[in-house]
Amino acid sequence: MGIRTVEEHLRSLRDDRVVFFKGQRVSDVTSHPVLGIGARHASLDFQLAEDPAFQQLMTYIEPATGERCSRFFKLPESAEDLLRRRLMIETSTREGAGLVLLVKEIGTDALFALHAVARRLDAACGTSYRERVAAYHAACRDHDWSMAVAQSDVKGDRSLRPSQQAHPDYYLHIVEERRDGIVVRGAKAHTSHAPYVNEIIVLPTRALGEADRAYAVAFAVPAATPGLRFIGSPFSAAATSTFHHPLSAEHKMIETVTVFDNVLVPWERVFMKGEHQFAGDLANSFVEYHRFTAVSYKTPWLELMLGAADLMAEYNGIERAAHVREKLSALVGYLEAVRALIQQAALGCRPTGAGTVAPDSVLTNIAKCYFATHYHQMVSYVQDIAGGLLVTGPSEEDWLNPETHADLEHYLGGKAGVSTEARLRLLNFIRDMCASDYGGYHEILNLHAEGGLEAQKMTILRNYDRTFCRDVVKRFARLA
Ligand SMILES: Cc1cc2nc3c(=O)[nH]c(=O)nc-3n(C[C@H](O)[C@H](O)[C@H](O)COP(=O)(O)OP(=O)(O)OC[C@H]3O[C@@H](n4cnc5c(N)ncnc54)[C@H](O)[C@@H]3O)c2cc1C
Repeated sequence: MGIRTVEEHLRSLRDDRVVFFKGQRVSDVTSHPVLGIGARHASLDFQLAEDPAFQQLMTYIEPATGERCSRFFKLPESAEDLLRRRLMIETSTREGAGLVLLVKEIGTDALFALHAVARRLDAACGTSYRERVAAYHAACRDHDWSMAVAQSDVKGDRSLRPSQQAHPDYYLHIVEERRDGIVVRGAKAHTSHAPYVNEIIVLPTRALGEADRAYAVAFAVPAATPGLRFIGSPFSAAATSTFHHPLSAEHKMIETVTVFDNVLVPWERVFMKGEHQFAGDLANSFVEYHRFTAVSYKTPWLELMLGAADLMAEYNGIERAAHVREKLSALVGYLEAVRALIQQAALGCRPTGAGTVAPDSVLTNIAKCYFATHYHQMVSYVQDIAGGLLVTGPSEEDWLNPETHADLEHYLGGKAGVSTEARLRLLNFIRDMCASDYGGYHEILNLHAEGGLEAQKMTILRNYDRTFCRDVVKRFARLA
């Protein structure tokens, strides 16, 4: 089948999946006034694959079938593959006004990790997950399915392991093995775009011990599987006017609490069942690919922050001020350092042992950690350049009201030659990015999504070989 059209994708979401939003069961996520915004945003993935201007980047010819497929499904076999993937994610996110599309990115991150870990798992345990993963990957690719990944468990008391929790369901686990498959129960949190995808791929969150064997489970199910329920987050649901919310009125991502209420998973879709010694390997392999994806989709957002701050400085007549130039140069350095780090992570990729490559782990984590650590500081630079009208400016209704329009037009201008309306629109753009519900959403996304800061710091320290540096010190300090 290869590539689906936007309409085919949207039609596939009208399948009686159980989605709740703000107290209501939603019968059709594609036509819902709020959820429909996210559905249309995500469907840009399919639009770009058909667009002659993007088709070369977004698709490839799969040698096994001779079909044109979404490039997201291409297993990374070289640094060149990773660089093209990075460019594809950056470009498609840019077309999505700085918001990642995420209906193939995260799912294929999971597929790549499953390929690598299944090989190690099969070699150690005599299982045959590798063929299952390959068959499932081929089905996703050939049907051009969209996918979400439910990795993060709800986790209860963070200081306790799954089996030590107050009840057994704070981490998703196997409750029954049957002839036709396994039955699982539990809930995952923060599942991005789950209402807009065909498939939900489930992975373990963390390393697990023998006592947590039942929690070592990975599988995939269609979104309309009986027992599966999605409870959507209302964040940024009030954004309707493109004057006030030029970005979030048309671009949205939805996360869900994803409940697995005794869900049956057929055997051919089970990719880990109790092999607890590989749970940490799978969790980490996924986040390596996913943090590479994450940093690749951050740069278009940073381009918008820089461009908006630069224009605002000009509109306010402060573009020559020393402190403004310093802030703009910091924004340039931030954007390009993030981009350079992730490109270098692709160039420094390493073989996984399964015929694929993974991005350099240390550089990927440094890129993500550097990005997240400095994000709030960079937001404050943009807010500082824009001024207080970001939150005290007039409403669209007063701008349009003939009784108030002339006052606003006359008094809220900036530098000569810049229209008052352009200045207000730019202020609204910056508010949407950095001082709105949507701006707050991005602050939390950038801090927590793809794993919190501490997870990245731990990985950097664990995977960086410090022997060379220690040996240099020993040599010049005459220690041995
Ligand atoms: C917008 C958004 C989208 C997301 N999308 C997805 C998705 O599509 N799929 C998915 O699976 N996940 C997704 N996530 C989840 C993301 O990976 C998690 O938010 C992240 O791993 C942090 O987990 P948490 O939110 O449970 O916070 P917590 O783990 O509760 O972290 C809060 C604080 O507690 C600290 N902490 C936690 N445990 C310990 C401990 N044992 N000891 C010491 N300190 C501890 C952390 O370091 C942090 O400082 C998304 C998150 C966001 C915000």
